Amino acid sequence: RKSSSSNIRNTYIEYFVENHGHKHIKSSSVVPLCDPTVPFVNAGMNQFKGVFLGVVDAPCPRAVNSQKCVRVGGKHNDLDLVGMDGHHHTFFEMLGNWSFGDYYKKEACQMAWDLLLGPYRLKPDNLLVTYFAGDAVIGLEEDKECRDIWKQIGVPSSRIKAHGARDNFWEMGPTGPCGPCTEIHYVHPDGSLTEIWNIVFIQCNREADGKVVGLRKQHVDTGMGLERMAALLQGVPSNYDTDLFRPILDAIHKNSNGVSAYSGNYNADATLDQAYRRLADHARMISVCLADGVFPSTSLNLKQIMRKSFKISTDVFQNPNLLSILYNEVRNTLGDTYPELALREKEAKLVIDHEREGYAKLRTSLRKKWKDLVQFYPEVADLKDVEIAGFTLGYREFKETMAKLKSKIIPGDLVFKLYDTHGFQEDVIQRVAHVNNLEIDKQGFWKHLSDHRSRHKTAFKERASDRGSLFDNAIDKLNKIGIYKTDDSPKYDIRQ
Ligand code: ATP
Ligand code: MG
Ligand code: MG
Ligand code: MG
Repeated sequence: RKSSSSNIRNTYIEYFVENHGHKHIKSSSVVPLCDPTVPFVNAGMNQFKGVFLGVVDAPCPRAVNSQKCVRVGGKHNDLDLVGMDGHHHTFFEMLGNWSFGDYYKKEACQMAWDLLLGPYRLKPDNLLVTYFAGDAVIGLEEDKECRDIWKQIGVPSSRIKAHGARDNFWEMGPTGPCGPCTEIHYVHPDGSLTEIWNIVFIQCNREADGKVVGLRKQHVDTGMGLERMAALLQGVPSNYDTDLFRPILDAIHKNSNGVSAYSGNYNADATLDQAYRRLADHARMISVCLADGVFPSTSLNLKQIMRKSFKISTDVFQNPNLLSILYNEVRNTLGDTYPELALREKEAKLVIDHEREGYAKLRTSLRKKWKDLVQFYPEVADLKDVEIAGFTLGYREFKETMAKLKSKIIPGDLVFKLYDTHGFQEDVIQRVAHVNNLEIDKQGFWKHLSDHRSRHKTAFKERASDRGSLFDNAIDKLNKIGIYKTDDSPKYDIRQ
């Protein structure tokens, strides 16, 4: 089909390779390469960070790719939006083109516009663009140059809007390359907007002290969401109705006992449809992460998303094996583009099975203990979700500590302990606090969480000096079969 997602992906790459002399560079893995500032690769530009900062040579003057991105944790965290709307995922593909000190604003906007109106056949009347309004703290003025470029291209002034730093100053993480951006939005018949493409003019770096300083060269970094583009070009109401998600939703339905089919309802009370969307989304994220060698034992984010998915599979769809079944659908829809999904299938499914068994055992034993616990602490009778966490021990300890403290606020270190040691998820801790009429010290919790994360990264870095531990042996094995790349220098795996 002309508007199939693989045609949309190929069209993008061909357009930049053949019409505009770009080189096709393969997607990096979703594991950030020696970059502790992000938990996962969150944009196509991550693998070029060193180029923008001037510490690595550009692999070519112009590049294009489709990048596997995960937006869970860190600055760009879309986990809470998943299931609620039709266009934010934990995993998505970002199509992007780059100029490393080569072309700049005018060419970048023109190339984008010509692709949308030409090969993709969008109508100019359905498009709206935004540009950077300037920001005193960052120290940059309104990007009038960008505004005038859109005018020259022929976009009427009524559809060129200026926005502040929140929407139109793009940053990768707490530090790193950044710059003013221009976003292209699709205007739906009801007037609502979907952002489809972001073009960033990388000209600055956010340093550790928070200051934004200018770079020696100016670069272009763009990102277009493949799933959003597929929804538009396939004429369907949301990303979940495209060829990237439909087979996954169908497989959930086919493999769940007597549950009604997905109906595409976005009302707040459409809990079944939300469960369909969450599971379909998480299945893609989990499959891609496992194929890239991220493990639930080293990534809290992945572990929690796997647990959430087992819970949905078991409670809503009555089939604890769904993640493994859905791996096949993810491999079928994405395997041609990302061959690691097929190459790592066996290992990935072993990890899924292992986690699923662990989860099932935990649940059975906790359910038993939970029944005992309700006798002592009747207030927990309504907190059924807590079954999946290290409930018994965690709750007793929590009650004893709070009784000693005589405080109305659960301190950050205790919240972190419930989270890290006992596996309570944040929303569960919130409800535990609620039934006990307590507040949570959120700032304190986040501080512990970020300290923990940086310790994790340091431990990972220092492994070379601590040979012999179980963890190192595992990493060594993985290096041998090539799952992890631990070289310090970025590698450009350029496709022929
Ligand atoms: P939004 O404002 O919709 O959250 P964004 O401005 O955060 O998007 P960018 O960081 O500019 O997104 O990323 C570039 C493009 O990637 C976006 O224009 C969009 O098409 C796509 N995109 C961003 N986040 C997601 C997501 N969570 N799921 C799917 N596609 C996304
Ligand atoms: Mg966003
Ligand atoms: Mg945006
Ligand atoms: Mg954007």
